[in-house]
Amino acid sequence: MKSELQFLGAAETVTGSRFLLSAGRRRYLVDCGLFQGGRRLRDLNWEPFSAPPETLDAVLITHAHIDHVGWLPRLVRQGYRGPAYATHATAALMEILLPDAAYLQEQDAAFANKKGYSRHKPALPLYTAKDAERALESVRTVAFNQTLSIDGTDVTWRPAGHILGSAMLEVQLDGRRLVFSGDLGRYDNEIMKPPEQVGEADVLLVESTYGDRLHAEGSIDATLTQAVAHVIEREGVLLIPAFAVGRTQQVLYHLRRLQERGSIPDLPVFVDSPMAVDASEIYCRYGDDHNLDVNLVMDDEACPLRCRDTHFVREVEESKRLNRMRGPAIIISASGMCTGGRIKHHLKWRLPDPRNAVLFVGYQAQGTRGRQLADGSKQVRIHGQQLKVGASVFKVDALSAHADRSELLRWLEGFDPRPEQTFVIHGEPHASQDLAQSLQHRGWGNVQVPKLRASFELL
Ligand code: ZN
Repeated sequence: MKSELQFLGAAETVTGSRFLLSAGRRRYLVDCGLFQGGRRLRDLNWEPFSAPPETLDAVLITHAHIDHVGWLPRLVRQGYRGPAYATHATAALMEILLPDAAYLQEQDAAFANKKGYSRHKPALPLYTAKDAERALESVRTVAFNQTLSIDGTDVTWRPAGHILGSAMLEVQLDGRRLVFSGDLGRYDNEIMKPPEQVGEADVLLVESTYGDRLHAEGSIDATLTQAVAHVIEREGVLLIPAFAVGRTQQVLYHLRRLQERGSIPDLPVFVDSPMAVDASEIYCRYGDDHNLDVNLVMDDEACPLRCRDTHFVREVEESKRLNRMRGPAIIISASGMCTGGRIKHHLKWRLPDPRNAVLFVGYQAQGTRGRQLADGSKQVRIHGQQLKVGASVFKVDALSAHADRSELLRWLEGFDPRPEQTFVIHGEPHASQDLAQSLQHRGWGNVQVPKLRASFELL
């Protein structure tokens, strides 16, 4: 039977992962991600789904990042009533991430109405909290390495090591084996296990976020130690902007290890983000999905995802009280690129004072406040106010959750025989092209970088 694969997102770009697999009357959507970034990309979120949503049999989810699941509430809003399958930990993370995404959409619409810049009057949110709730009701959980049968199509979720619950999908459809890499993690991460090696595929979709780059050498430990020493000496506060899911837990893990080794003294650490607190709890709940021994409650001092003297801050009032706190101390807060969330308030309070420091632990996209600071800007604007940057700025980029070029190739070398069709996806055009060319040089045949909306018949 003729089968077809259509690239509805993450083609020549890194966001909006959506791949439509059709065979006869059966239709599956692998990932249902939101496009993120500039206007041109965000506008794509408003396009109706390429087929009537009710003709879909299932949505199959690789992991909980918004660029992989953040369009599900929109699909539900458009009439999708079927199931969305995900691993247990992914489902748990979606419970905190989707309502937050809906909140941001509603806020955006409200802001556009206030400023009157929307093309639609009134501006409507892409989806609401109610849509996110209905999307969550559609989620069905599956265990890793267990095969789910949907009308004769077998799907298996295999560990991808990218974030908690993240999976690559193996789909058996009419005698063909398709592998969707999802986002691939790293081979030497302390928290996540390495991506599982898949031996065979007829059709392979591989991500290429870092298809043309290697991660910088060097560890976070040296920079963390330096930044902590800076605030201890000056009795200042170290601000660490970090994504709530994954990155915050990684930072806590490293801080704890440095304390245990005696590289840094004990000092109060505040995790000021309700979402990060929830995410940490989920990491503790799904201890089997990662390397750490966290079959402990998070309140236990021995939990490796907290350091000594860690305080988890949920309440707004408690967060505000941190403004009056004297150093030395550490505040870890979201968002990771300083574009929203409580970190903005902390920056407003702490940036002008040279006793304080800011440590960036993740990629800072062009045009964000985080990028401005990381690039050494001496002034930034927060809440309409121009602030002088007196605090010292430190950065490490060793904490990526994505496999780099050499790790991608290592994972790809595991395919024996080589797939008949390979699609390089989820990368900026040069990154995808670069990885595709490397595969061609290594003798892989039929490697393509699909364009957005392109359809391919499966051989
Ligand atoms: Zn991801």
